[in-house]
Amino acid sequence: MAIKTVKSVDLKGKRIIMRVDFNVPMKDGAVQDDTRITAALPTIRYILDQGVLSLTLMSHLGDPKKDAEKAKEKAEKNAQPFDYEKYIAGKHRIRPVAEYLGKKLGKPVIFAGEDGCYGKKAFIESQPAGSIIMLENTRFHKEETAKEASERDKLAKELATYGDIFVNDAFGTAHRDHASTASIAKFVAVSVAGFLMEKEVNYLEPIVTNPVKPLVAIIGGAKVSSKIAVLESLIKNASALIIGGGMAYTFLKAQGHSIGKSLVEEDQLDTAKKILAAAQAAKVHIILPIDHIGAEKFEASATPVLIDSIDLPDNIIGLDVGIKTANEYAKALADAKTIVWNGPVGVFEFDAFSKGTEKVAALVAECTSRGIITVVGGGDSVAAVNKFNLASHISHVSTGGGASLELLEGKKLPGIEVCRG
Ligand code: AMP
Repeated sequence: MAIKTVKSVDLKGKRIIMRVDFNVPMKDGAVQDDTRITAALPTIRYILDQGVLSLTLMSHLGDPKKDAEKAKEKAEKNAQPFDYEKYIAGKHRIRPVAEYLGKKLGKPVIFAGEDGCYGKKAFIESQPAGSIIMLENTRFHKEETAKEASERDKLAKELATYGDIFVNDAFGTAHRDHASTASIAKFVAVSVAGFLMEKEVNYLEPIVTNPVKPLVAIIGGAKVSSKIAVLESLIKNASALIIGGGMAYTFLKAQGHSIGKSLVEEDQLDTAKKILAAAQAAKVHIILPIDHIGAEKFEASATPVLIDSIDLPDNIIGLDVGIKTANEYAKALADAKTIVWNGPVGVFEFDAFSKGTEKVAALVAECTSRGIITVVGGGDSVAAVNKFNLASHISHVSTGGGASLELLEGKKLPGIEVCRG
């Protein structure tokens, strides 16, 4: 069933409670990257333009409980003092994010106070019509992430009293079954998606359910173990599957090749064999590296060496794909009508080993210009297209790492399911 969006309901004169993903990187109480804030602006602006009584925003910002615990342990280990208030003020208090949003909107965002998300109904209702209000970081409350539904419901019920309509635009948190992302929908009459959520679902979901074929998938990254489910899911629809990055070496070893000192997950060799067999049975063309850029050390300053064969010498770590492999990628992508990319094909953070990933980004961008649907999902490949300044040349760059991976795995995401009609 398709998701319902803000456009399908009459918002005039209503109170709106909206979940956004403003989990932005913070340093000393200042926003470091506003991608996620910018991504929610179209929905926020649309809602405010509809003549609503109030728009109340809620988000998490890191996890103060978990993060402070870790930081305290670290400080104690180093015999250093730990100041909880100072620590959370720098990273977890959402007031600076509300102020930042206010500047972006050119309209003040009223912060509901550091004392948390409970008991704010009267405060919200006392604001002038059309106000935009932001609640404190939801994860200050243990109920937000509680395992027990009855615990989550305590907070969810309270949040539900702040709006007639729940809008979820927090795609980055859609895979979490939390009080403010999913449980709240049980206690409001209407739950709909924002435009960001709609765009993410419209691009990512068809890749698993009904892609424009041929579909070619590029899956890279460090570990096979974190990509098993996505590989299994994509095999069902892809005509070709490019497997690159550190995880390719477990596959090459499973095929009996020498992989030198490259990254390998010995406990995943059988899984790799099973995936290769499943791909063969489904007639999915698997593309593994046929040449490599390697080095003797895993270091940015290591001297790159070209290995012009599938097999690597004993002293070499495979850190990137070579030109012959990249040419194979170009051939595989030439016939695609849909391309999905998750995970870099090399250690792109080290400039000397970033060429393969840069080539993939350029190929995917070039395919976009030919009208092919291109979707990049997952933290590191998104970082890669940004590094090579190609994000604007991709049909859709996902804002959610874990959420986009889970959607591509074919899972149902709690934050999306509540928006179904
Ligand atoms: P993931 O989060 O699983 O997508 O993995 C991304 C990470 O994989 C990046 O930090 C890359 O540096 C790393 N990576 C890519 N290729 C390799 C490789 N050949 N050896 C080790 N790590 C790699």
